[in-house]
Amino acid sequence: MKKKFLIDTHMHTAEISSCGRIPAAELALRCRSHGYDSIVITDHLNQEFLSRLPFNDDWDKIIDHFLSPWEFFDKFGNEILIIQAHPFRDGNETVFPECIHGVEVYNGNPRHNNYDHKALDLCAANPQFYRLHGSDIHCDGDFGRAWMLFDEEIPDSHSFHAAIKQNEYSMGHP
Ligand SMILES: [Zn+2]
Ligand SMILES: [Zn+2]
Repeated sequence: MKKKFLIDTHMHTAEISSCGRIPAAELALRCRSHGYDSIVITDHLNQEFLSRLPFNDDWDKIIDHFLSPWEFFDKFGNEILIIQAHPFRDGNETVFPECIHGVEVYNGNPRHNNYDHKALDLCAANPQFYRLHGSDIHCDGDFGRAWMLFDEEIPDSHSFHAAIKQNEYSMGHP
């Protein structure tokens, strides 16, 4: 049987994400030991990072600095893949269907209710959307809670982007 390539598309490192508990090097080794061939790091821009900006107390200026979702999509939408993770999780319910390429329709994080069925409804209303699964690893116990399976090796973000665009993948979770 031809080898398939296993990817986890959602995880956080202790170095960058204030909620991440596992350092990047260890995270990579542990994903390897769970059988993953490639991983996607999805760190948050945490408070510490934002506090280094000269206008950290002015949210409007912070948004100007990082661009609004619409400006961001206009500027980078042709170059990179913009996927909204757990769009309906409690506390982050702002959904930007016109400035994303797809959504995470299964989030494995056991500490949140992600209302994944709403993400599937959003995809049904936007059939052009790519659908992704991700474990959302922050700490012990979060590994292997979701996966995506590819026919070809995915050595970097460009090949990931290309394979997603070709819809050459299947997905699953325990
Ligand atoms: Zn987090
Ligand atoms: Zn996350």
